[in-house]
Amino acid sequence: MALDAIVIGAGCAGLSAATALADAGARVLVLEARPGLGGRATAFRDPDTGERVDNGQHILMGCYEQTLVFLDRIGASDRVRWQAGLSLPMIDRRGYESVLKLPSVASPLHLLGGVMAWEALSWGERLAILRVGNALRGGTPKGVPYDSHSRGVPYDSHDRETVRDWLIRHGQPQRLIELLWEPLALAALNQSIDQAAAHYFVVVLERMFADPTAAALVLPAVPLDELYAEPAREWLLHRGHDVRVNAPARVEVDGSRVSGVRVRDERIEAPIVISTVPWHAFGALFDAVPPALAAIASNAALLHSLPIVTVNLWFDRAVMHEPLVGLPGRTFQWVFDRRAIVGGATSHLSLVSSGAEAIVAQGNDALIATALREVREALPAARPARLRKGLAVREKRSTFSLAPAAPPRPQTTTPIEGFFLAGDWIDTGLPATIESAVVSGHRAAAESETTKFTKGITKHVVSF
Ligand SMILES: Cc1cc2nc3c(=O)[nH]c(=O)nc-3n(C[C@H](O)[C@H](O)[C@H](O)COP(=O)(O)OP(=O)(O)OC[C@H]3O[C@@H](n4cnc5c(N)ncnc54)[C@H](O)[C@@H]3O)c2cc1C
Repeated sequence: MALDAIVIGAGCAGLSAATALADAGARVLVLEARPGLGGRATAFRDPDTGERVDNGQHILMGCYEQTLVFLDRIGASDRVRWQAGLSLPMIDRRGYESVLKLPSVASPLHLLGGVMAWEALSWGERLAILRVGNALRGGTPKGVPYDSHSRGVPYDSHDRETVRDWLIRHGQPQRLIELLWEPLALAALNQSIDQAAAHYFVVVLERMFADPTAAALVLPAVPLDELYAEPAREWLLHRGHDVRVNAPARVEVDGSRVSGVRVRDERIEAPIVISTVPWHAFGALFDAVPPALAAIASNAALLHSLPIVTVNLWFDRAVMHEPLVGLPGRTFQWVFDRRAIVGGATSHLSLVSSGAEAIVAQGNDALIATALREVREALPAARPARLRKGLAVREKRSTFSLAPAAPPRPQTTTPIEGFFLAGDWIDTGLPATIESAVVSGHRAAAESETTKFTKGITKHVVSF
């Protein structure tokens, strides 16, 4: 049977686009260049311990609406664990422990209640947080779509303002920035608060604090590839679609429309081609970039990549009582207990350093030593424990720059008929996240409107 669509790339964007199209009746082929699926959200087997290790701990949130739709579609909703509302244990640099917990009451009372009860703060700092709450409530009309910034809806941030500028403009004291806003912004944006555009942080806060469920942490309860990539592959294969790995694709364009895809010597034709490759792989999709796509390709080449460094530590005993703890003011801003999150035979801690440009070039021994020192400073139970193994994972191109001067992100549709773009770097208005990738995937599927499938897909994308 003839193919209706080819999806290039099998990360969150590719698999959400492919399953949305297939659900609407299209016959789909997914092509993935690597031997495994999952792209930047994947896992590997550690040869020494036999444990599955994520390429970096990923956190979803209750406000990841499209991701939850995608997981539901492929029957993987039970592979995540929901926190009842936001609950963040923190240990500051002095070793002071506290928990920021938002109660399950209506917005904005949950923010108010949570902040007022957070004993790490002075009364002055608690009152300062409320200024941010006010700025958010005043800034964005209810129900505004993610990409409203590019459509000119006025958020409460100036165009060239950084996150730090915005926090200072809203009267946030230095200690509060270090304790709360900086770790939150680094986790959400993966970029220093001195570089990232305030706009993206405002979007994230607006989404997070919309209601108590939106702010809830949703943690993958399985290794990342089992969360969505393997279920999506099974789902597609079971319905007669195809997913091929070790299949690096090149796009072929005939005049002003896409004519197909080449994988090495093989030509594959379909009227719709959706690229979900990341910004740094976009130019290599073509033998010669068609003039109509030259601006997209040159902007993609200029987009700066940002790293995340994870150090995984295996101790000879359990050292944490919580699934995650924030370590504000340290190199590794969060520590996750994989034993508590995934369970089974998994026994390591994962320490995450976002916005890790300053340390990404360090050797393994140095990274492991820093992570070990910081976890022992913060967690008394780790001090007598013996370290059995340390493993550093550097993802140099985890996300892209959200600086105010970063090149513009492309739209879903292109001047080439039948050729659509998805991936977290497409202009969804969101930072580089799983949710941005899935929003873009669903949008690409829906916008391949020259096909007969649009109607069926629309039901999955009404909320953005
Ligand atoms: C360490 C780390 C931690 C992160 N933490 C979080 C988090 O906590 N929460 C969150 O929401 N997000 C997080 N992210 C970001 C998230 O992983 C990404 O935003 C998301 O996975 C991007 O998905 P994507 O499908 O757009 O791109 P990718 O996952 O990069 O998928 C693109 C795929 O295209 C393939 N490809 C490239 N060229 C070709 C070609 N020519 N032919 C065929 N295939 C090709 C690639 O191999 C890849 O598999 C994190 C990322 C990293 C690396």
